[in-house]
Amino acid sequence: MKSVYLRKEDCCGCSACYSVCAKQAITMKPDEEGFLYPEIDQACCVACGRCTQICPLTHKGNHKNSGMPRFYAARHKSQEVLWQSTSGGAFTAISDAILRQNGVIYGADYDEDFHVLHHRAETPEQRDRMRISKYVQSDMGDTYAQIKADLQKDRMVLFTGTPCQAAGLRGFMGTSSLMDRLYICDLICHSIPSPLIWEEYKRLVEREKGGKLVSVQFRSKRDGWSRANSNKGFLFTTDQSPEIHEDNHFHQLFIKRTVHGRASKGRST
Ligand SMILES: Cc1cc2nc3c(=O)[nH]c(=O)nc-3n(C[C@H](O)[C@H](O)[C@H](O)COP(=O)(O)OP(=O)(O)OC[C@H]3O[C@@H](n4cnc5c(N)ncnc54)[C@H](O)[C@@H]3O)c2cc1C
Repeated sequence: MKSVYLRKEDCCGCSACYSVCAKQAITMKPDEEGFLYPEIDQACCVACGRCTQICPLTHKGNHKNSGMPRFYAARHKSQEVLWQSTSGGAFTAISDAILRQNGVIYGADYDEDFHVLHHRAETPEQRDRMRISKYVQSDMGDTYAQIKADLQKDRMVLFTGTPCQAAGLRGFMGTSSLMDRLYICDLICHSIPSPLIWEEYKRLVEREKGGKLVSVQFRSKRDGWSRANSNKGFLFTTDQSPEIHEDNHFHQLFIKRTVHGRASKGRST
């Protein structure tokens, strides 16, 4: 059976191959740890090879930034923005500049059950939902195709995500002239936990706390913005128990890379 990758650890699950397939022969399917991997429907595949050509891991050289990648560190001037961001609020500053030019923002958001997935934003309110680090691999869905469609309509686009996802987008876009209006901003990311562990963890918190989760905050600044405080724990509330429940276990799993699974080499960025 044909596969997009030779070894599983050579796939970071960015989903660029799924998005580029003109025959819709590729589906992203969860493995036993909840990480999404591409699966080819052999009946639809015409062996054009496009999926492997654009893969950022098998063709690393093709999709790198030219020259040295640029790194920026920033601290937002607004104390309010700073408090609503995980780190220095650079995401808000950059995305504000794009929104002012009628641009579109793509970033990681939650759905109503706190699954992490990439969404599209055209307003500051929609963008605000993308603030705050979510320590779970986000589901890209049709994000790359949506970005291309926005660019084709002459919209300016800002994409934010992990370095693997950013590399996937570069691979998907290739040398297209549409890249002129695309800003790709990846974040510092040491690796990404399993969505399946996150699912089980949410249910555990709900069982222990009672009720359904209504808010989740990874790495809160509640007690200040020092490394010691931000490492303290994650904050949860449920509809039956609105006082904040602090729990450090998932954070510990994240920091120690315990929940990054068998494919952690490929998932590490
Ligand atoms: C999985 C992960 C691993 C990280 N590892 C490190 C690390 O090793 N060292 C370090 O110093 N910092 C790490 N960070 C923190 C991160 O680099 C900064 O906190 C981030 O850049 C937030 O800065 P900000 O205040 O500008 O963003 P905020 O205003 O808090 O906005 C969050 C930004 O992160 C994006 N984002 C959030 N969650 C995800 C996700 N699951 N997948 C893709 N994009 C997401 C959003 O789209 C948005 O652009 C990690 C963050 C994540 C999500």
